[in-house]
Amino acid sequence: MEFAGLKAIVTGGASGIGAATAQLLQERGAVVAVLDLRPEQAPEGVAAIQCDVSDDGSVRRAVQEAAERLGGIDVVANNAGVGAQGTIESNDDDEWHRVFDINVLGMVRVSRAALPYLRQSSHAAIVNTCSVAATAGLPQRALYSATKGAVLSLTLAMAADHLQEGIRVNCVNPGTADTPWIGRLLSAAADPEAERAALEARQPHGRLVCPEEVAAAIVYLASPLAGSTTGVDLAVDGGMQALRLRPRSAAS
Ligand code: NAD
Repeated sequence: MEFAGLKAIVTGGASGIGAATAQLLQERGAVVAVLDLRPEQAPEGVAAIQCDVSDDGSVRRAVQEAAERLGGIDVVANNAGVGAQGTIESNDDDEWHRVFDINVLGMVRVSRAALPYLRQSSHAAIVNTCSVAATAGLPQRALYSATKGAVLSLTLAMAADHLQEGIRVNCVNPGTADTPWIGRLLSAAADPEAERAALEARQPHGRLVCPEEVAAAIVYLASPLAGSTTGVDLAVDGGMQALRLRPRSAAS
C-alpha cells in the first residue's frame, strides 16, 4: 500500500495497459482518475474523466477536474497513444502531425497542466509509456517509432528539468502487449493467427507481454519506493531489446 494517500492520473486508462495501471494503482492504495477519450470503459472505482490529449483546452479542463476530485495530483501516467503502420511513404503530412499530436504533444500537454500540482507533492512522479519501437528498428512502423523515439528523449529532458523540483520522470518500453490495440491489429491482418505467431516469435520469451506486466513496471517507477530512480527507460519486452538468443532448436 505504498500509494496510500497519493493521487494519480492515468491517460488512456480505459483500456489495455492504462486500465491495468489504474487498477494496480488503486490496489496499492492510490486514488485514481482516468483521463480518456472514452472514459465509460474505465475500471471501477476511478474518477472517469473525458479528455482528448490532442486538445489543450480539453486537457486543462480534465486535469483541473481530476485535481479537484482527487484533492491534488502526485503521479501522472502518460499512457494514451495511437498506432500507425507503414514506411515513411505510407502516411501523408496530416497523419504524421495527427499521430505526433497525440503520442508526443499529448504527454507534453498533460504534464504541463499537472506540473503546478506535482510541485506541491512530496512524492511526485511522471511515467511515460514509450515502446521498444523507440530503441529497435521495427519494419512498417516509421511514424509510430518516430513518436516513441521522441517520447524517450522527452522523458530524459523532463527528468533533467524537473529533478530539482522533486519530480521524477521515467518511461517504460513495452514489447508487443496483448491489449485491445493488438487485437485490432491482428483482426485486420490477412492471416491473424500467422501474424500473432510472428509477433510472439519476435520476443525472446516466446509470447506477448501482458498489460499487467507493463502496469507493474509503471507502478514501480511511480512508487515512492523508487525515489532515487529518474531518467530511466525500463524495458518490458521479454528480452526483445537486450538479448540475442540462438533459435530454440539450437539450444544453448
Ligand atoms: P489501447 O488501444 O488498448 O488503449 C489506448 C487508450 O488510449 C484507449 O482507452 C483510448 O481511448 C485512449 N486514447 C487514444 N487516443 C486518445 C486521446 N487522443 N485522448 C485520450 N485518450 C486517448 O492501447 P494499449 O495497447 O493499452 O496502449 C497504451 C500505450 O502503450 C500507448 O501509448 C501505446 O503506444 C503503448 N504501447 C503499446 C504496445 C502494445 O503492444 N499494445 C507496445 C508498446 C507500447
